[in-house]
This record gives sequence, C-alpha cells and structure tokens, in this order.
Amino acid sequence: MKCAKLINKEVKIVDVEKPVFGNKKGAIIKVSGCGLCGSDIVKINHSTKENEDKVVLGHEITGIIEDINVEIKGFKEETPFKKGDIIAMGHHYPCFECKYCNHKNYSMCHTFKNSNIFPSGFSEFVYADENHLKYTVYKKNEALTNEEFSFLEPLSCCIRAIKRAGLELNKDNSNYNCLVIGLGSIGILMAQGLKVFKTNTFGLDTDKNRQEFIKKFGIYFRDDIKYDIIFMTSGSNKALETALNLIDFGGKIVVFSSIEGDLGYKNNDIYYKELDILGSYSPSPDDLYLSSRFLKEKKVNVQNLSTNYKLDNLARAIDDTKSRKILKAYITI
Ligand SMILES: [Zn+2]
Ligand SMILES: [Zn+2]
Repeated sequence: MKCAKLINKEVKIVDVEKPVFGNKKGAIIKVSGCGLCGSDIVKINHSTKENEDKVVLGHEITGIIEDINVEIKGFKEETPFKKGDIIAMGHHYPCFECKYCNHKNYSMCHTFKNSNIFPSGFSEFVYADENHLKYTVYKKNEALTNEEFSFLEPLSCCIRAIKRAGLELNKDNSNYNCLVIGLGSIGILMAQGLKVFKTNTFGLDTDKNRQEFIKKFGIYFRDDIKYDIIFMTSGSNKALETALNLIDFGGKIVVFSSIEGDLGYKNNDIYYKELDILGSYSPSPDDLYLSSRFLKEKKVNVQNLSTNYKLDNLARAIDDTKSRKILKAYITI
C-alpha cells in the first residue's frame, strides 16, 4: 500500500506492507483522508537522516473501520465499534496512572508520547490498538463530511488550551477578554472554541487577508483594550512582543506553537504584571470527546477551511501551507 515517508528529509510516497493484526487486538482503518498539521511540518524541518525513519507523519485521520477483532466502546460512547463505522481519530492516549496523568498533564505522560498509530496518517491503512479505540476514535455523524470531521484532533488541541487557561464550559466567561494571535486554521478553531466557552473573543494576525477572513466568524481586533488571556498560535518571534504589549495585569499567555530560536518572556514582565505563562501541547481523551461534540453539533464551523490534495501531491500541499497560500491541507488517500 502507499504511505508517505521521509527519505533524505524529503517527503516521498513509497510502497509498504499493509498493517495486519498478527496477535494484537484492535482495528484496521482504511484511511479516507488526513489533515496536514503544522506539527507535521515542524517534524519534517527538525528531522535528521538518522531519525527520519521513525517520524510518523499525519495524525488527523478520518476513515472507515475495515476490520476489527475486539468488542470495545469509544470514550463516553454508547455502542461498540463495528466494521463499516466511519470515524475520525487522534494518535496518542495517556495511561491515567502516572504522576503526569494525576496532575492532568496527560500529554506529558510517557505512554501518551510513546503511543502512536501505525504506520502513518498519510497511508492507505492504519492499525489502531485497543486504547486508540477506547480513547481517541469517534464515529462521524450525518451532519459532517469526512474532511470536516478530520478537524477532530486539531480542535481538541484548542479545547485543551482553553481549559489550560482555566476556562470552564457552560460558565459565563464574558468577563474575560481573550485574544488569539495568529489566525491560521488553528487560530480560527481556537477563536471559535473560545466563543463556545462564552468568552469575549478577539483575533489578531499580521496578514490582512486572515484578519479579514476571521470577521465571518464575528471575530475582530481592538487595540484600545488589554487582554486577560492571550493564545499564541503564531510561530513568529514578533508575536511575543505583541502579546506582552497587549496582556493585562494578572493575565495569562498560553503558548501553543514552537518558534524559531530561543526567545522567551521577560522575567520582569512576568513579575510586575503577575502573569501566568502556560504551555499547551496535545489533547486528553476528554478534549477529543468535547471536540467531537462541538463538530457534530456544528458549534464550531469548519466548512471550506481546508483545501483538498491527493496523497501523491503531499509535497505540494506542504509547500502551499508553508507559503500561506492555503489555510489548511486535507490529503485525500
Ligand atoms: Zn495536529
Ligand atoms: Zn500517564
């Protein structure tokens, strides 16, 4: 079967063995498509010839359960998975037992970091183990296309960041001025997620087209107020300075992307303004569950956010994402 691999730091579509159960329990998923995540591009950029064999590209998967050899229900779901179910899934699950899980830092758990789908989201089939099924796989409903449901994992990352900032769902959070810096696809999801959490939500991007595009979600920027919580989805160095200028006393800055170099937040800004600087990395099963609900109930709109590419054109999709020609690529397998 076809599968994307890194060879000499270049993305190539190669022929690999289709995954089989052997003596393992789980499901074989026939992949319909997979979103291209900013973290895939970071992985490609940071890969070396020595480790590139271990790089798993693509984790925003949708597909159909082709075969399943275990009776198992999804997280908070009513009925067990069966052959033919159309699903979306994430790639990591925590152990729920270690110190990190105990402190709710699920994405820092060793099991979380070491669990993965096989061989990669950009391939014709993947193997999902029992815990993937239990904690990361969700059935699609009629309201969504596969492409739309592929936002399950990226939206859940945003929900995690919103919860990390201390915001609770079903509370009136309108006394929090929240700003999303960076209005790419993740920024758009974050801003919409914040609206579901009923915050006073704003967005900022240096790209005029992106600043214009977000208006259709009712998101604007104001330069005459300070912000209580700022979400950094931009990987640009300049964004740090912008955030420090716009944050209010006692505010929180949620760091949500890697940046080039080793710039940091200034000690005295943190001290005198009593700031909280938080990192948010990857979702817990509960965040994936909320994400599936927000998508299925159309609380977050992802229609026409992504551009479709065939697997053979993955390298072009990567180039178009890097050059900001598109907001987000969805790779049809
Ligand atoms: Zn992702
Ligand atoms: Zn753990």
